[in-house]
Formats: sequence, C-alpha cells, structure tokens
Amino acid sequence: MKVLVVNCGSSSVKYTLFEMDNEKKIAWGIVECIGLLESYYRRQTAVTEEKKKSVKVASHTEAVELIINDLLDKEIGSIANIDEIDVIGHRIVHGGNRFSKSVLVTKEVKKGLKECFSIAPLHTPAHYAGILAVEKMLPGIPSVLVFDTAFHQTIPDYAYMYALPYEYYEKYHIRKYGFHGTSHNYVSQRAAAMIGKPLNELKLITAHLGNGSSITAVEKGKVIDTSMGFTPLQGVVMGSRCGDIDPAIIAYIIKIHPNYRNSEALNTLMNKESGLLGISGISGDMRSTVKAATEGNKKAKLAFEMLCYSIKKYISSYYGILNGIDGLVFTAGIGENSTAVREKICVNMHAMGIEMDTEKNNKPSSKERFVSTADSKVKIMIIPTNEELMIARESRACICMRT
Ligand code: AMP
Repeated sequence: MKVLVVNCGSSSVKYTLFEMDNEKKIAWGIVECIGLLESYYRRQTAVTEEKKKSVKVASHTEAVELIINDLLDKEIGSIANIDEIDVIGHRIVHGGNRFSKSVLVTKEVKKGLKECFSIAPLHTPAHYAGILAVEKMLPGIPSVLVFDTAFHQTIPDYAYMYALPYEYYEKYHIRKYGFHGTSHNYVSQRAAAMIGKPLNELKLITAHLGNGSSITAVEKGKVIDTSMGFTPLQGVVMGSRCGDIDPAIIAYIIKIHPNYRNSEALNTLMNKESGLLGISGISGDMRSTVKAATEGNKKAKLAFEMLCYSIKKYISSYYGILNGIDGLVFTAGIGENSTAVREKICVNMHAMGIEMDTEKNNKPSSKERFVSTADSKVKIMIIPTNEELMIARESRACICMRT
C-alpha cells in the first residue's frame, strides 16, 4: 500500500510518498516560498540525490500540481499511475472543537474544516487549498485528515480550561487544544520501544523543541497536559514566539502603544518578533543564538537562558503532576541537535532522578539514543521525530477501518 503525505504550510507544501508494506520513503520534497517572486522546489527519492531548482509557483494548487506531475514523470517519477496511491494523508494543524481524531475527507468534513479557518488563519486555509488541489489532481483517491491537536484530546477539563467566564468556552470554544500531537505521539511510542516496556506502563515527558516548541506530559500513552494552548503561542519561549506572558501586558500595550491597536499587529509582535529573536535582536534560530552567545553577545546569552529556563519549568511541573517519570524525550530541530540546550535543561535535575551523561549528550548522531547516565532513574532519550510516518500510519488505519 502506498500513502502520500501532504503537509501544506502557510507558504510551503511538503510531501512524502511511503511504501507502507515496509514503511520506507519512496519520494519526498518541498515547494517553498509559494506566492513570492521566486519559489524553490527540493525533491529526492530513495534512489536519487536531492535536487533543488527555482520555480514559479503562485498558489498551493500550483505547488500540488507540480509535485504530482513530478511523481508521475516518466523519467524522474516514482509511480506510473495515480492509482498506485491508495490514500492521501493531510497534516492539519488545528482541529478546533470540530475534530478529535483523524477523519476521511467528505463534503461534510470539508465544511467543518472551513469552520476552523478563524481559529488558525495562517494554516487552515492553506490546508484547505491543498485538499482541493489533491482532489483535482488525484480524483477518486481517498484523503484523510490527521490533526496535530488529536493526541491531546485526553487532557482533562481542569487542565484544558482557561479560568475565563465559562461562556467563552461554550460560545467561542476557547480552551487549550495543544499542538505537535503527531510528533509527541510518535516519540512516546518510540520511547516505550527503547525502554522496552509497554507505553501503558510508562510516564513520560516529551519535549518537541523546534522553531515552535511544546512540552507534553504523557501517562500510559495518554496526554495529561501540554504547554501549548488555544494557539501555538502559549508555553515555552520559542524562536520568534514569546510563549507565556502575563496576559495583562497585552491590554497595557494596547493602551500605551499607538502601533498596537489591532489584533493583527499584536499577533505579529508576539508570534514573529519575540522569543529568541526579540530578546537577542539577532535571530530566532538556535544555532545563530548559541554562536552569538559563545562570542560574548549578552542578549543572545540571555535569550538562550530564558528559553532553557522556561522548558525546565514545564518539565519540573509535569514531573510533579505525573508524580515522577520514567523517561524524558528530546525531539525536533533543537531537541535532536542542540547539545547546549539539552545540557542546560538537564543540569541540576538530580533531585528528580534526571542525570545526563554529558559525554553521550555531546556525541553527534542522527539516531535514537539514550543520553542519561547508567544509573539515572529517568531515562533521557533523543528521538528524531517522524510526523510524516505517523500521518501515513493514521491514514492507512482510517482506510482499513472503512473497508
Ligand atoms: P525545526 O522547527 O524542528 O525545524 O527546528 C528548527 C530549530 O532547530 C532552529 O532553531 C535551528 O537552529 C535548530 N537546529 C537545527 N539544527 C541544529 C543544530 N545542529 N544545533 C543547534 N540547533 C539546531
């Protein structure tokens, strides 16, 4: 069975074609900078090196057309006929209160997704355009929507509610939803395999640390709490997002600052101009931040310390909520690659049984591995995330349930 995973971001379309009999990637790539003067297309297959070229792509529809035509290309393609694809899995960032698990695309489902536009205005219209484009290019092939919010459905009400008047939950569905669920789900499963115990016997904290970051408490395979909230802005300090701040600051800025009289400007401030970028004034990228901090830049050092401290705070609170943990997982760009961030977080956590082996932590590798000491009560793991594979598995399961 072949599954095509499509991930439409605000200005990009990423894809992976899987052979599910062995869960191996056949072809994958990305179209970036959609709608700009110049767009880029990077593609690779299991048997060819990565190729990059400039393209003119004005919309998500055009990007999907480019990708499908490429997959079908007689010389460089990976399939001879569209019927070779059994199902398409779409990554969807926000299911709102409409979707709690993966669903097969129907007219009704598309209508429901449209109702989610306002809750994630940067992402959902792009997802929607991608679904329509795939339908046009691959008629008759079923599509499945896989939601980043789905894994967090088990969070109890006392953890997902905000203490606003209850009607804001009832009328406007304002509550914590959580994000990166597909990634947290994948690494939880891998952590159980690494530890060698069933997931339903384990207590884990998973730290997805990338440009956007979230920390999740997982007990017996179910999410108890997660750091992101109604939107992916809440939680730890991120690349260009501020994470948790006193909400009264927003009202205060509106009052004192003439530039911030509308929600768009405030959203830009908190999502695009804050975090590492806002504090350091240099970059939202961790590599550049660490480099500048090492060269003596005080603001970059402060930004680095703030980010690590905010993660440490969430890990500590989830440790308490779970009454101890068996494993702590690091994943995504920073979690998988930044030795400095992992070390800064794990230092002085002995009281919780978290003891890092710094030598193991410093050893570069792209494989799953333990970086805790032999006698650390908590296993510290680095697990490369694989959201695409998780989406492919979910899509296959959805189709198999139907037949
Ligand atoms: P992601 O959103 O998962 O792609 O992660 C992006 C973040 O990972 C950026 O802040 C990068 O600087 C960071 N990152 C990627 N590779 C490394 C590395 N080798 N060392 C430190 N940070 C890295």
